[in-house]
Amino acid sequence: MHKKHCTITIDGPAGAGKGVVSSLLARRLGFTRLDTGAMYRAVSLHALKQGFELSGNIAKKHLEDRLQLLLAGIEIEMDEKRVRLNGEEVSQAIRRPEVGMAASFISQFAYVRQKLTELQRKIAQSTDLVAEGRDMGTVVFPDAQCKFFLTAKPEIRARRRWLQLREQGIEKTLEEVLKEIQERDRADSSREIAPLKMAPDAILVDSSYMGVEEVVNTMYEHARQRMANFSTLS
Ligand code: C5P
Repeated sequence: MHKKHCTITIDGPAGAGKGVVSSLLARRLGFTRLDTGAMYRAVSLHALKQGFELSGNIAKKHLEDRLQLLLAGIEIEMDEKRVRLNGEEVSQAIRRPEVGMAASFISQFAYVRQKLTELQRKIAQSTDLVAEGRDMGTVVFPDAQCKFFLTAKPEIRARRRWLQLREQGIEKTLEEVLKEIQERDRADSSREIAPLKMAPDAILVDSSYMGVEEVVNTMYEHARQRMANFSTLS
């Protein structure tokens, strides 16, 4: 079947700038932006609210069964600005650091990944997409027209994340944020299913010493080149 819509993927570790860069790139191209981390965060927020323990050496089989039931009762709605979980706006709540850590924990489970992958592919059928996450170019959209891997040095990512959290009124030391980022990097890169890694055909962008605008310009030029023959851009 001919795929009508165009998909651009941006994968990379926590704090690399995927959020802001994907928003700006999508706007410039007239595409929809899909923040898949927000989906994992929304599921984990719901599980935390239901009293699930989402860390350590808990009985994983039992937890996966419970997550399966939980997912059956979850409806996630997203647009550029808001995330709603079963009708309730959770856009701010999902940004809390403990929700990010819990999201990293639940994202190791095959059933959770399968459900969210299905949802992400369904969205891509109806619109041109800039999809950001950890496994967009490797697993969810292996045939994407253009793939990026956006990264930066851990200390720089931690500093950016620390500033973001301060803006939201969340006080943490830089060392704490760096430790969390390193822990999430380790968990996301070492999990068995869909680990964070660069797709062989992705373009590597290291934003350590680049401003947001420079990153977006670089990606935009690459995207145009890679999709030169693709009708939506010509
Ligand atoms: O991107 P963000 O930091 O919001 O993602 C939160 C967590 O969700 C990540 O640490 C990762 O474990 C998980 N995630 C994932 N696959 C994606 C997007 C996010 O496993 N495509």
